[in-house]
Amino acid sequence: MSNGPVFRFAPSPNGRLHLGHAYSACLNQHLAAQVGGTLLVRIEDIDIGRARPHFIQAIFDDLDWLGVTYARGSLRQSDRFDAYAQALTQLRGMGFVYPCWATRAEIRNHIIDQPGGLAAWPRDPDGGYVYPNLYKRLSDWERRALMWENRDYAWRIDIDALQAVAEDKNGGPIFFTACDALNMETEIETRVDARPFGDIVIARKDIPTSYHLSVVLDDAYQNVSHVVRGQDLLAATHIHRLLQIVLGLPAPVYTHHPLLRAIEGRRLSKTAGDNSFRALELAEITAGDIRRHLPPPLGDGHYEDFLV
Ligand code: GLU
Repeated sequence: MSNGPVFRFAPSPNGRLHLGHAYSACLNQHLAAQVGGTLLVRIEDIDIGRARPHFIQAIFDDLDWLGVTYARGSLRQSDRFDAYAQALTQLRGMGFVYPCWATRAEIRNHIIDQPGGLAAWPRDPDGGYVYPNLYKRLSDWERRALMWENRDYAWRIDIDALQAVAEDKNGGPIFFTACDALNMETEIETRVDARPFGDIVIARKDIPTSYHLSVVLDDAYQNVSHVVRGQDLLAATHIHRLLQIVLGLPAPVYTHHPLLRAIEGRRLSKTAGDNSFRALELAEITAGDIRRHLPPPLGDGHYEDFLV
């Protein structure tokens, strides 16, 4: 493994890439080149229900079309379930992970029944309802009885306990380091507090991981030194830093780039079919045109012509 800086572009293969991915991939390539680093492509396909083989091939085809070069031999997260399961066992051994049988509907109905209902209920940094701690304080006996029923469940982390254990292990407050995409020399230290998320899902009954767990394990496994990704994942970095500490993993430096917005201000999304590379190719827009008009430091930022 190289000792130089390592960057990664880590798409999930559940749709065609769009213009926002082009920005992320090109920015990773640009910043890696600036510091003489390597760029890896990692396929984040833990969501086996949604990942599709033809989307994986399309990711590589689209990156080639765009002219993004990366190191050979891409890691697929679906090949790493054993490693994730091992880390889950390690986390469970720390005593702050518990099984939760609540369905989405059960959580929602529980919140609706509280004073003020959904409108008054706290939201997490991603806008979701904070988990109302159902199934958190069960006795061993109650848990065993529920396990026997063989229903689906998720493993949740008691977030207050995770924060406390991580700070204890760290010997005080925890920070993550973020760099500006325009000037990698500028480093900002942000104090980590993941508690506003509430008790997050860290794995599921049939999938021994979640985005949060696999991303920290793989960044460490692949010696990633620089995580360059969209601003939508900035809040999640607080969770990632805590997991890195309790699992004894190194901390990369982060850059969270702005998201490209569709004209009406909504985020680009794969499922909405926004500006997929295929649509851009059909409209005879070239990879050069795209690169010229992506936001700085890559281009002039006039990408609005590509938004349909
Ligand atoms: N797989 C995630 C996505 O496609 C990105 C993960 C990351 O960069 O940390 O949104």
